[in-house]
Amino acid sequence: MLKALANSFKLYNSYSQTKEPFSSVEPGSDLARIYVCGVTPYDTSHIGHALTALTFDILHRYLEYLGYQVKHVQNLTDIDDDIIKRANRDGVNWNDLARQWDEIYRNSLAAINCLPFDNYIPATTKIPEIIEMVKGLIERGAAYEAKDGNIYFRAASFKNYGALSHLNPEELLEKARAAAVDSLVDYPENDAKESVLDFVLWQAARPGEPRWDSPWGEGRPGWHIECSAIGLNQFGAQFEIHGGGADLLFPHHSSEIAQSESYTGQHPFVKYWVHIGMVHLGGDKMSKSLGNLVLVRDVIKNHRPDALRLYLLSIHYREPLHYEESGVVIAEGWLAQLEKALAVESETANEQLHPTEWQQRFFAAMNDDLDTPITIETILDLAQTILAKAHTIGVVKAQAALKEMLSILGLFLVEN
Ligand SMILES: [Zn+2]
Repeated sequence: MLKALANSFKLYNSYSQTKEPFSSVEPGSDLARIYVCGVTPYDTSHIGHALTALTFDILHRYLEYLGYQVKHVQNLTDIDDDIIKRANRDGVNWNDLARQWDEIYRNSLAAINCLPFDNYIPATTKIPEIIEMVKGLIERGAAYEAKDGNIYFRAASFKNYGALSHLNPEELLEKARAAAVDSLVDYPENDAKESVLDFVLWQAARPGEPRWDSPWGEGRPGWHIECSAIGLNQFGAQFEIHGGGADLLFPHHSSEIAQSESYTGQHPFVKYWVHIGMVHLGGDKMSKSLGNLVLVRDVIKNHRPDALRLYLLSIHYREPLHYEESGVVIAEGWLAQLEKALAVESETANEQLHPTEWQQRFFAAMNDDLDTPITIETILDLAQTILAKAHTIGVVKAQAALKEMLSILGLFLVEN
């Protein structure tokens, strides 16, 4: 492992709201387990999805560069209210709809050079694990069967429920209400629940809906329990990194913490919570519900995938991104500059341009919570310097350094 470099890598943890030195859960281990909340596959390949996947791809690549053994897992929410609603609206089978959009999603990620996940797990393949966890939560008094036949998590049983979100009780309630638009049983005013913030773990089958057998009759899992069960199944009770879009802080990730820690009795479930800023278009959040989506496959019809990648990396991952196509056009210019700098041949090799200064800037930025905007400034500055000096000084060393930085950023440019 690149010890000195690895020792100074800091990652922002949404739970503590600070940048923390990164290390494995087990002292001395080189394991870096990353669990990312995947998509609900319909309309799922817009810039927001790409930005989340790309951020974790950069984290994956950089941790690997530092010498960590990275295990990158993502789930696929291939059953939930949204898919059923959309399938009914369009008169198609829910499973066909999910598979079709999942393929588009995965093709979009591959198109912008995101590494494949080590494991990619559809929720419908882990129903026994989910049922096991729900059973365990009932046994521990953290969940109950309500009069509507659903199983709910008892939010009051978990101290500090919602702490990850840093919201006050009124804000939690407001968020819970907004989230319940997708899952009506979670609505705070649902009087089958003991308390307003309780959320569904297992939902009794309704006519015409997909269903699985369970100790509580036929039904299907809630969304939050899916990730707790898959995380436990893949990584055990505690692991390094978990994340997704910033809109998952509450209720999804807060509920995962409550479920997982109530079930395993171990704290913390996750060492670093990583959340990605939201993508906006024309002043509104880019979202399926508003329908203001820019799909990756459309952007890369007109632009090189590397340009989209560079553009998305030019804004820090925790900042909101206001998508503008002109940004991708500018990034095309950066790409051209980088290509020229990699191709230029110096007229002399007597003296070399030393890249140390740029390397230091690049790695200091990566170590500062993946500050990719600074890394891009740095590579562009190095490229410019190479082009300006190639006629008076050797640039082979500087070109090799530039290539290494571009490879950490995952550009196709340096893969051929
Ligand atoms: Zn999740």
